[in-house]
Amino acid sequence: MDELREDYIDKVIDYAKQSEAKFRHAAICLDKKGQIVSWATNSRKTHPMQAEYARRTGKDQKVSLHAEIAALIRARDDIETVVVARINKRCELRNSKPCPICRLALEEAQVNEVWFSTDKGFEKL
Ligand SMILES: [Zn+2]
Repeated sequence: MDELREDYIDKVIDYAKQSEAKFRHAAICLDKKGQIVSWATNSRKTHPMQAEYARRTGKDQKVSLHAEIAALIRARDDIETVVVARINKRCELRNSKPCPICRLALEEAQVNEVWFSTDKGFEKL
């Protein structure tokens, strides 16, 4: 994709609104056909996969579940694209560039394209 489709943007923002964490993130996974195969928000709970990638990145304390990893866990099929967003209290987009933990997880899941929100819109990683 050269530009992120509007319907994906609307979806990922809607999902981010459902996050119960202080910083509201959501991620969606798309297959090769562009179908949404999973979505997730970040969470204060953890998951063994989050803990594992945190440990391997040398950030053992970062075990609250990030949206990207949560969405990867839920996806059963091969993932072509992941879209991540963060919104503030006024539902404006904020920077959600994936952290090193999530970048490692995305790389190992062989995700080809990662889009993340910034103050001005979406950028490709
Ligand atoms: Zn992360």
